[in-house]
Amino acid sequence: MSNPEKLYTPVQGKTYSLFAEGDDSERYYAEIKRLADVFLQRCPDQKRLLGLIQKVGERPFLLGLKTTGADGKTLRFVRETLRQSLSIYTRKVSNHLKTLPIAKRMDSTLATTEEKYHLYMLEIELVNRIYREEFKSSEYKFALIAHCLRDFRPECRSEEGEFEAVCRGCTEDCFIHLGSVLLEKYGIKPYISV
Ligand code: SF4
Repeated sequence: MSNPEKLYTPVQGKTYSLFAEGDDSERYYAEIKRLADVFLQRCPDQKRLLGLIQKVGERPFLLGLKTTGADGKTLRFVRETLRQSLSIYTRKVSNHLKTLPIAKRMDSTLATTEEKYHLYMLEIELVNRIYREEFKSSEYKFALIAHCLRDFRPECRSEEGEFEAVCRGCTEDCFIHLGSVLLEKYGIKPYISV
């Protein structure tokens, strides 16, 4: 479904955006689904494919060289296809990395490479597929929302919850509040991860 009624405003992150240059994120979700289907034709075992890309994500250069045989071929195909297909969503990564202060380049989160973003995107799609049914049948479901998504203008009124802090909805514009409302609608308890 596109965004005809402007249900949300496109967000352009400092490194990536699931909106690319459009005004909805549906194309991204269709594309990552298509890509996962293509890769699973080569490697039909979802958990095996997940393991391969998680390993290469940890040590991209070395593992890319060391992995040989069928796995090596699959990995080369996956990495090149992801690069060609997902670069429109990660155009700002290289500039972000260039402007990162030297002291922060050792921070593996801040210094995430463009290829790693692509691998994470595929990883999320595979994990969602693998654990979808278990998640749906769980009695208690919860989600962690990154604290950096909050509206920084007011003082946050979140309070301690059972596991982590919970949002008290002090402002309508806060992404954490918006995400919490959506999650609760589907029976998922939202927490703020710190
Ligand atoms: S809406 Fe929630 S997360 Fe956002 S600032 Fe208020 S209490 Fe904090």
